[in-house]
Amino acid sequence: MSLSTMHRKKVVIIGSGWGGLTSAYILQRNGYDVTVLEQGVQPGGCLQCFTRKGAKFETGMHFIGSADEGQTMHHMMRYLNIHDKIRLDRLDTDGYDTIAFGNERYKIPNGVEPFVEKLSQHFPKETDNLRKYWDIINSIAGASTLKSLTSEERDLSASTEYQLLSMDEVLDGLFKDETLKNVLAGSIPLYSAEQGKTPFSQHAFIMDFYNQSAFRTVGGSDQIATELIKNIQNIGGRVVTKAKAMTIDCDGPVAKGVITEDETYYPADYVISTPHPMRTLEMLRDASAIRPAFRNRIQSLKQTAATFAVYITFKENTVPYMNTNYYGYSGNTPWNCEHYTEENWPKGFLYMHMCHEDKPQYAKSAVVLSYMDMKDVEQWQNTTVEHRGEDYKVFKQRHAEKLLQTLQQHFPGIQQSIQAYYTSTPLTYLDYTGTQDGSMYGIAKDVTLGVAGRVPYRTKIKNLYLAGQNVNSHGILGVLVGTIVTCSEIVPPAVIYQQIKESNE
Ligand SMILES: Cc1cc2nc3c(=O)[nH]c(=O)nc-3n(C[C@H](O)[C@H](O)[C@H](O)COP(=O)(O)OP(=O)(O)OC[C@H]3O[C@@H](n4cnc5c(N)ncnc54)[C@H](O)[C@@H]3O)c2cc1C
Repeated sequence: MSLSTMHRKKVVIIGSGWGGLTSAYILQRNGYDVTVLEQGVQPGGCLQCFTRKGAKFETGMHFIGSADEGQTMHHMMRYLNIHDKIRLDRLDTDGYDTIAFGNERYKIPNGVEPFVEKLSQHFPKETDNLRKYWDIINSIAGASTLKSLTSEERDLSASTEYQLLSMDEVLDGLFKDETLKNVLAGSIPLYSAEQGKTPFSQHAFIMDFYNQSAFRTVGGSDQIATELIKNIQNIGGRVVTKAKAMTIDCDGPVAKGVITEDETYYPADYVISTPHPMRTLEMLRDASAIRPAFRNRIQSLKQTAATFAVYITFKENTVPYMNTNYYGYSGNTPWNCEHYTEENWPKGFLYMHMCHEDKPQYAKSAVVLSYMDMKDVEQWQNTTVEHRGEDYKVFKQRHAEKLLQTLQQHFPGIQQSIQAYYTSTPLTYLDYTGTQDGSMYGIAKDVTLGVAGRVPYRTKIKNLYLAGQNVNSHGILGVLVGTIVTCSEIVPPAVIYQQIKESNE
């Protein structure tokens, strides 16, 4: 160990997902000695991919937004020094998303004017309201410090107001046409929105993010993790896999270090924990500074929905590459698909092709996602991956066939092009990321709970912070915003923003 490393303050980061890796890069770059502990064999959390018979599948990062030059993700990718290492393939600018109710298809284009124009063709009486809708979205998203690249106080009034109003309430107030409201809510699987609960601000950030530009990663989202890890290592940081954090060792209100499953002790001046807060609470089981009231509040919060996924490989050159994300619904609404019966499942699905090369002509592989409750698979919760038994395989096959039949209704003949398929359930996500109940995006936002529904990034342990998708929000942008807020406890935010600006000069 060099002398300079010995004198640096040590930061131990638990979890190597997007939240852990981005925090690690920022802190290592700012003179801290960072070690990332990852329980899994493969780092990356939701950035992980897996390969079957030569086809690669993304598990939790299928497309990203605002990545054109001058846009937020592009700024951040330059700062993280991965912009020239990750290849992106643009989704159809005339319809990066396609919302399908029965036989009706609605394309969602990039750009505010094209968006208003295209939807006005279907809903001519709502043109003015569509403009008002975008004025509100722009006022909310425009207040983001990451978008404006300044750490200074912004006018957050719109953002705050719309954090307290539910998405459906605002859409109801703006529009008369029920179909249009449903089209605008058509991409809610991206944030697992619930009526009366999900804040309009969450909808606004996501619509703005992808409206600017939308891309798939060529060759898989795991490259984002790989390249970021290289950068962290190049500046002296460490990412240790197969290192499950079991205990955050505390002396009263101070964290001293982290103990992993193999009983290695990682001393720390700061600890940042990025997995689901329930996992962090387990690591703090002996910490007297964490009050029972806090534990109870976190335990009582509801999770976003979990998912059942079918990963498909196609017979060679049979399925033209689909340059859009396809949200199919059996009814005329995207809402409440998480409430289903054995008979009416799946009420909706999200279908996406994987991008294996620049501008592919044919798709090699795809994923179909549909909501599934952990309750459906809880009987296998105490089994381990690959050893869950025959009845679990039967369960998965039955649901896969049902989901593929639903896909076939939207894409007649598609089943003949399927070479093989693989599945995952909420248990898979629980195992690979530690997310509570297999939830896709962690703790659900709920306007009815106000601040009591939020997970703070500070804890009663003064040098232990939380980051990752449960703080602020999920997704490549939501997690990044949380990363910067959390890292700003250690490095002044003005310094971080200045570095982002300099990386983009
Ligand atoms: C199906 C699905 C599709 C998605 N699609 C998109 C998309 O297209 N675009 C987008 O922007 N976002 C998408 N998201 C959301 C996005 O992937 C996540 O919000 C984000 O990646 C979460 O990052 P994170 O670091 O908070 O958590 P995670 O990625 O879950 O990382 C947490 C890490 O902590 C590790 N860990 C847990 N417990 C321990 C422990 N005790 N010790 C050590 N390590 C531990 C886990 O193994 C994991 O690696 C999707 C999510 C899902 C589930």
